[in-house]
Amino acid sequence: MKSLLIAEKPSLMRQIKEVYTKHRNEIKDEIIFSALHGHILRLVEPREMTEDNLWDIHNLPFNPKDYGGWNYRVEDVKTYRNIKELMSGVDYIIHAGDADREGELLVREVLVYAKNKLPVKRYWLNSTTDKDILNALLNLRDDSEDFFENLYHEALIRQRLDYLFGMNATNAITNRAGMLVKSGRVKSAIVAMVVNRENEINNFVPSKHYTVNALLDDFDASNLAEFQTKEKAEDFAKSLDKVMVVTDFEKKEKKVYPPKLFKLSTLQAFMAKDGIEASMTLAILQELYEKGYVTYPRTGCEYLSESEDLSVILKTAKEGVMTDVPTQVDMPKGVKKFINQKEVDKEGHTALIVTSKRPTSLSGNHLKVYETIKRRCLMMFMPPAIFEETIVTLEVNDEEFTAKGLTAKDKGYFNFDIMNFPKEVHIPSLIIGQELNVMEYKPIPHEAKKPTRFTDATMIMALENPSKYLNDISLKSKELSVGTPATRAGILSQLTKKDKNGNVFLTREKNRKVYQFAPTKYAMDIVAKFGHLGLFKVDMTGEWENMLGDIRSGKLDANEALLKGEKDVQEMIEEIKKIPKSGMGKVICECPFCGGDILEGKKAYFCSNWKEKGCSIGIFKEFWGKPITKAEVKDLLTKGFIVKSFESKKGNPYKKALDYNKNERKVTARDGFI
Ligand SMILES: [Zn+2]
Repeated sequence: MKSLLIAEKPSLMRQIKEVYTKHRNEIKDEIIFSALHGHILRLVEPREMTEDNLWDIHNLPFNPKDYGGWNYRVEDVKTYRNIKELMSGVDYIIHAGDADREGELLVREVLVYAKNKLPVKRYWLNSTTDKDILNALLNLRDDSEDFFENLYHEALIRQRLDYLFGMNATNAITNRAGMLVKSGRVKSAIVAMVVNRENEINNFVPSKHYTVNALLDDFDASNLAEFQTKEKAEDFAKSLDKVMVVTDFEKKEKKVYPPKLFKLSTLQAFMAKDGIEASMTLAILQELYEKGYVTYPRTGCEYLSESEDLSVILKTAKEGVMTDVPTQVDMPKGVKKFINQKEVDKEGHTALIVTSKRPTSLSGNHLKVYETIKRRCLMMFMPPAIFEETIVTLEVNDEEFTAKGLTAKDKGYFNFDIMNFPKEVHIPSLIIGQELNVMEYKPIPHEAKKPTRFTDATMIMALENPSKYLNDISLKSKELSVGTPATRAGILSQLTKKDKNGNVFLTREKNRKVYQFAPTKYAMDIVAKFGHLGLFKVDMTGEWENMLGDIRSGKLDANEALLKGEKDVQEMIEEIKKIPKSGMGKVICECPFCGGDILEGKKAYFCSNWKEKGCSIGIFKEFWGKPITKAEVKDLLTKGFIVKSFESKKGNPYKKALDYNKNERKVTARDGFI
C-alpha cells in the first residue's frame, strides 16, 4: 500500500520524513510526502459574491449562504495542484495537520475541496522527538473518529462565525462611525476591556479608612471595626483596656501542594513577569518544540495522560539541579494529582512539559523559558509544604481581636520556589483564659487600591478567565474564555498595529520591567460611542468560545451552533442600526495647540477652534504641487515631520523631509535630500 502524507508545514514534513527514512523497514506502507504552507485556501470574499454596497448598513448582515454558499478559493495554486496530482497515485491519505483545531481544518479543507474519496488516517502528535514520531507513524488513527470529526466541525464553525462577525461588525460600525473601524470577535472585546480599565483609572477616587491593631509582646492582633478618620480610630483605641484575654486558640496543619503544570497561558503570564511578552514566549516555545525539547505549545491543558512515562520527565527535569531531588518517580503520592486522562482527551494535548531530549546550547530567553518549564516539572515530584497554622481570638472590653500565625514544618517543593514562599508569623502556644498585655493600640491606614493597566500577564489571565468582565451575571457560573491559547498573543499584537488610515487601538509600553496596554484616543472615542453594543462585550465572544467547546466535546451540533451565531450577528446589526451616524471620521487628530479637532477644509486643514479661539495650524492641502494626505497631517502634528517624494523639472524623483514648524505654525522643507 502507498500513502500520501500531507503535513501542515514543510518543517513538520521534513521531521517526519527523516524519521520515516531512518526506520523505513519498520514501517509497513510506503509514504510519499507533501506539505501545505498554512491555509492554501481562503473563504470567498463578499465582493466576489455580490455587487451590493456592503458598506451600506441596510444591506447587512451579509451571509455567504444567501449568495451561493460557503465556498473556498485556492490561494496557493502550485501547492494545491501538486497535492491533487499526488493523491491520484496512492491508496490512502495521512493527515498530518498540527494537533489542534486549526490543524485539523487546514488539511481537511484541502481534501474536501479536492473532493477526496480516499480513506484518511490521522498522524496526531504533541511532541517532536524521534521516538514519538515513529510511534505516531506506527499508530496512525482514523480521521473519521468522532474526536477528529468534532474537532473539524469546531474549526469550521469557528472560521465561519469569525468571518460573519468580523465582516458584518466592521462594515456596520464603519458605516456609523464614518471612518474605518476594524472589528473582530475577540479584538473588540479586548479593546473594550482596555478602555474600560483606563476609564476606571481616570475616574478613581482615592479613599482611606482605618482599623486598629493591638501590639502584643510576640505578635499583632487585628480588629474588624473600620473608621473614616485617624482621630476616630485613636478615640476607639483610647477606650480599650491594656489587658486582653485569650478566648480561643487553634492549631492546625496545612499542606500546600506543588502548583499545576504549565499550560500556554499560565506560562505566558509567568514569563511576562520576567519581561518576556506573550507572543515572544509562544515563538520561543514553538522553536523549543520543533527542536523536540518541550511538548506541544498551544495547549490549554494542565495535566498529563495516564500513559505518560514520568521517569522520563523526572530524568530530564533534574538534570543540572543542585538541590536535593527525589530519585524515584513514585516518591510523593501527590504526583497522581497531575494526571487526568479526561482533561487530556478533552484538549487533545497534555500540559507543557520537557521531553527526553535535552538541549545543549540554549541561552538568553530560550534558556529562561526552558528552565522555567523544567523547574515546574520538577516541583511535581516534590512533597507538599507542611505549615502549622495558628488562629488566636482575644477579647478586651467586649471587642474581638484576632491573629493568625504560620510556621513551616517542611518547606517541601518551596525549596524550588523560594520566591513564592509565604511569610512566616510565629505565635507562641497560648491557653484559653490567659491574659496578655497590650503594649500599644495602633491605627492602621487602608487605602483603596488604584486600578492598574493590563500587563501581558494580567491580560492573558483575564482572557483565560473573563468572569470579572462579564455583563450578564448568569454567565458567570459557566467556564468562559476569550479567544484560545493559540490565538491570543497574535490578536494582542495586531491591536497595536496601525490600520491603513494610520489608526491603532492600543499601545504597549514598557513600565519598569513589564509591558502595559493603554488605549489610544481612537479606541477611547470608539468605545465611548459604541461600547454599549454587544460586540464590545466579553459575553458574546465568551459564549461563542463555549459553544465551540461544546461542538468539540460532541454536546452541540455544528449547524445549530452556526444558526445561533447567525442570529447573534443579525441582532448585533439591528442594534448598530439604531445608532445615529456620526462624523467621527472627519476628525483627523487632536490639535496640539488647543486640544480641538483638526478637520479638512476646502484648501487647507484647520482647527475646529479656529473661529472661537483663533487657533491656526496653517497646513495647506498641497505642498509644491503634491497633495498632503490626512495621514500626513496627523504625522506632521504629532511626529513633527513627514518624508515626501517629488520630481525635479527633468522628471528625476527625489525625497525630502517636510517639518512642521510649531513656532511659525507652518510646513517647511528641510535642507538637503533624503
Ligand atoms: Zn487648535
